Amino acid sequence: MVQNFEKKLVLITGASRGIGKSIALALAKDGAHVICAATEARNSGKVVAEIQAAGGKATAVGCLVENPLAVKRMFAEVLDQAGPVDVLINNAGISKPMLTMEMTEENWDQHMNINCKSIFLCSQAAALQMKMNNGGSIINIGSILGRNAFPATLGYCASKAAVDQMTKVMAIEWARYGIRVNCIAPGYIRTELIDQLAVDGKVKLKDLERRTPQRRLGTGDDIANAVRYVASEGAAFMTGETLVVDGGWTAFGYYQT
Ligand code: NDP
Repeated sequence: MVQNFEKKLVLITGASRGIGKSIALALAKDGAHVICAATEARNSGKVVAEIQAAGGKATAVGCLVENPLAVKRMFAEVLDQAGPVDVLINNAGISKPMLTMEMTEENWDQHMNINCKSIFLCSQAAALQMKMNNGGSIINIGSILGRNAFPATLGYCASKAAVDQMTKVMAIEWARYGIRVNCIAPGYIRTELIDQLAVDGKVKLKDLERRTPQRRLGTGDDIANAVRYVASEGAAFMTGETLVVDGGWTAFGYYQT
């Protein structure tokens, strides 16, 4: 698959590690200038250095994506220093499992603010730039848990289900400005997030592999490749859609032996 993102400015939230890092490396390799956002700019430093060492263009920025002022400031600075954003990848997210009877209001708020409100804030700021620039592409990283229920994931599932619907509303409102909005819903991807859940005893990696028809966890590159397609001209007529990338997890409705 050859994709060309030469002269494209791509902002990726949560780009310091995991899925966001894989997306940043892939799009930089395809020629994009990638703005790698994390809670603090220094957290994206290694990713930016890796891209630059390979001859790519990358910039580290810090922004708490749930903070309206911080988001406004980040997009204003990017516009000032690099121009309007062509592609926004809303990837930053958290997962903090808690059984619903024990769940705190803080846990609910964290999931809704970081996984969901952030997408409203960042997409609105990006769309205002894209509208002036005659178009762009926004990709929200949702989850198979936006459609499938799991115990102890009330906040996470609710926030990711909202991402699917937010994708559709933004897509139909902004199509007239040439802005496409889509969602990619990963299955289980081997990142620090999943490793930490395994360490905390919240998931068992072997069980996740066994439950997946392809019998493996996904990689960051599996998601980055989907992003490369959805963000490209090849997907010009695709908007308001959620693309599930999960090794067959969601399709599977039988029992595993
Ligand atoms: P990681 O935990 O590995 O990375 C999370 C990233 O988000 C980091 O870059 C982190 O930055 C950033 N981040 C966290 N909180 C904030 C915040 N408040 N403001 C700004 N940035 C923040 O996660 P993954 O790579 O595994 O997941 C990425 C996305 O993919 C998430 O939305 C997740 O829900 C989704 N997903 C993941 C799956 C998986 O199996 N891994 C499955 C389905 C969906 P910092 O380094 O500064 O903390």
